[in-house]
Amino acid sequence: MPHFICTACGMQYAERAEPPAQCLICEEERQYVPPRGQTWTTLAALAHSHFNSYREYEPGVIGIGAQPSFAIGQRALLLRTAGGNVLWDCIAPLDRATVTMVEGLGGIAAIAVSHPHFYTTVVEWAHAFETTVHLNAADRQWIMRPDSAIRLWDGDTHALWDGVTLVRCGGHFEGGTVLHWAGGAGGRGIVCAGDILTVCTDRKWLTFMRSYPNMIPLSARTVEHIGRALEPFAFESIYGHYFDRVIAHDGKQVLEKSVARYVAAVNGTRGYE
Ligand SMILES: [Zn+2]
Ligand SMILES: [Zn+2]
Repeated sequence: MPHFICTACGMQYAERAEPPAQCLICEEERQYVPPRGQTWTTLAALAHSHFNSYREYEPGVIGIGAQPSFAIGQRALLLRTAGGNVLWDCIAPLDRATVTMVEGLGGIAAIAVSHPHFYTTVVEWAHAFETTVHLNAADRQWIMRPDSAIRLWDGDTHALWDGVTLVRCGGHFEGGTVLHWAGGAGGRGIVCAGDILTVCTDRKWLTFMRSYPNMIPLSARTVEHIGRALEPFAFESIYGHYFDRVIAHDGKQVLEKSVARYVAAVNGTRGYE
C-alpha cells in the first residue's frame, strides 16, 4: 500500500489504501490548505516530476533541494563531520541519483530534523541509508509515519557525537531544534537553524515566528529563551532553510542583535512603539 505525501507540506503518512481525508499538519494553525484543496503524491510519482540539486557552501556543508521546488520548498544539508555524515532536515524527493551520490560521500551516519514541517519522507531516507532519525520528543504527536528508525530525545541538548549537538530552542514548535557543528566554518562553528531561527530575506537578521505563512508571532519571553539556549555555543555561520538563506559571518552577534530587535518590537520599546 502507498505512503501518501501531502503536496502542500511534504509530510509522508503511514501506508494506507486511500489518501488521508486531511493533512493534520496543513489543517493546524501554523500551516494551510492551498486554495486548490488537498492533493497527494507518492515518492514514485515524485521521481518523475522532481529531481534533487546540490550546492556546496563550504567544505563539508552540502545543500540538497528539490527541483522544481516542492511543498514548503526547504533544502536539506549534508554535513561531513569527523564523526560521520549528518543529514540535517529533510526533503521529500529521494531519487536514485541522490542515493548514489550520498553513498559515494560515505552515506549518512545520523539524521536530525528541526521540526515537523520538515519530517516529510525522513523514514525513507533512514531506510535507504540504514540509519536513525533523531527527533525531539516534545513533537512526537506530529510523527505521521511511525518507524523503528526514529529515536526520540528529551531535554535541552542531545550530542550526536563530539562536536555535533542538537539544541532544543522551542518557539515555532515546542520541540524546535537547531544543530550546532563546532567543526563547521573552518572550526569557528555553524548553526543549522531550519526555521527555528529564520534567516530573513536580507540575510542580515533572524526572525522567529509560531507561523510564517499565517504570521503568528512568538512572545518576547519565548524568543529570549531561544537566545539563551544558544548562549553556550560559538558559531560564525547560520544556515537557514532555503538555498539562499545563509548568514556567513558573525552569526553569534546576528542572533544576539536579532533577539534584541524582536523583543523591542513586540514590547514596543526602543523605536518600535
Ligand atoms: Zn500537509
Ligand atoms: Zn515550519
